Amino acid sequence: MTTVTPGEARFGRRRLLAGAGAALLVGALDGCSVGGFDRRTAAAPRLQLAPLRAATDRITQITVCTRPFRAQGPRLDVERIGQKTVVHNYGHGGSGWSLSWGSSSIAVENAMRSGERDVAVIGCGALGLTSGLLLQRAGARVTIYAKDLPPNVRSSLATGVWTPDSRICLEDSATPEFKQRWAAMARRSFQTYQTLLGLPGNPVEFIDTYFVSDDPASPHRRGQADDPRPKFAGLQRELLADLIPRAEEFAPGSHSLGERYLRRNTQMMFNISAYSRLLVADFLANGGKIQIAEFHAPADLTTLRENVLINATGFGARALFGDESVVPVRGQLARMIPQPDINYGLIYKDVAFVPRRDGMVFQVIGADDYYGYDDPTTVPDRTEAELAVNTIAGLYNGTQPGA
Ligand SMILES: Cc1cc2nc3c(=O)[nH]c(=O)nc-3n(C[C@H](O)[C@H](O)[C@H](O)COP(=O)(O)OP(=O)(O)OC[C@H]3O[C@@H](n4cnc5c(N)ncnc54)[C@H](O)[C@@H]3O)c2cc1C
Repeated sequence: MTTVTPGEARFGRRRLLAGAGAALLVGALDGCSVGGFDRRTAAAPRLQLAPLRAATDRITQITVCTRPFRAQGPRLDVERIGQKTVVHNYGHGGSGWSLSWGSSSIAVENAMRSGERDVAVIGCGALGLTSGLLLQRAGARVTIYAKDLPPNVRSSLATGVWTPDSRICLEDSATPEFKQRWAAMARRSFQTYQTLLGLPGNPVEFIDTYFVSDDPASPHRRGQADDPRPKFAGLQRELLADLIPRAEEFAPGSHSLGERYLRRNTQMMFNISAYSRLLVADFLANGGKIQIAEFHAPADLTTLRENVLINATGFGARALFGDESVVPVRGQLARMIPQPDINYGLIYKDVAFVPRRDGMVFQVIGADDYYGYDDPTTVPDRTEAELAVNTIAGLYNGTQPGA
């Protein structure tokens, strides 16, 4: 995981593979397609999108992180290590924030079944914090042990949108049982997020996202049908269609982004700084304790005083448990000075823009989910960051804002 200022970033890293949490954005849009563009929509009232000040000199930070992807999906089983019961809760690919409440509720049920009331959580990212809070709600006294705390955890470097099937597993592993459990996790998380709307600092909010294309034909498809590599599972359309608002289309002339085709959908966005602060504050206010600790081998866990542990170490589980099924999927964000009047997201030419209030996000998401796959490198690529910003900036060049 790396965070640098633009000046520290290295230029010219080989431009690679797979994309980010925004595949999720595309997934959401894709799931709601209502057919091709219709010129008749040009008669619809004009859509005025406030102009975005996208410029490379406004980049404040470039961050790189690896998603903890497992072909078979997250690990949620229970293991005995010495005298300890270890409940696993890691390997959520590009969906960790999105599935956190549902996944952690499964882990908490497994932990509470032991009858113990003092429970340890290893890890303080999205999964560790939600595990800690749900344990407290179930009546447990909880200590979180972690090497790093927010904002220095991988979870803090996510795109910040609700994308529950982003690189969650490969298609072959999406058995009927898996789908049922995944849908339950996603719905539980979605409902919990509804209770976090409208709070001070906007930890969670809904935004409109526009998929933009120069071409009216099938502008929202990702990946090649003839790609021989195993496919990533796409589950939202099949299992959560009722949670996704219907897409709306805007033909050239009906909006302020020039001669382009727009498809609008609505999705949840997480302002991760405010949201993780809220989670930590709630956990501490409920009497939770946080201790900095690093574990180098599973046997180290046996030194803890608690007998039941939830393992929420994310990508760290690969080294700690020697779990090589955790594959790194690199993702880079270019962060930019926030613009409070911008409350919509964009996807254009394999680049996603998310209007986060804690720093706007620009991200090359690649043509398919293999973008960044098996790439553990965390050196920021300034060229990629500028490509992301300039691609989105191109939507406003030659277009009179509001004209
Ligand atoms: C570029 C990018 C964009 C993403 N966008 C989204 C998105 O928009 N929506 C979404 O839902 N998901 C997104 N994700 C995925 C999401 O960020 C991850 O799935 C999620 O952060 C995993 O959370 P975690 O709590 O499991 O792990 P982490 O955040 O990595 O937390 C792990 C914790 O365990 C601790 N730890 C690890 N090893 C040890 C050890 N040996 N000893 C002690 N402590 C240890 C760490 O210090 C940390 O506290 C994105 C990921 C990336 C990389």
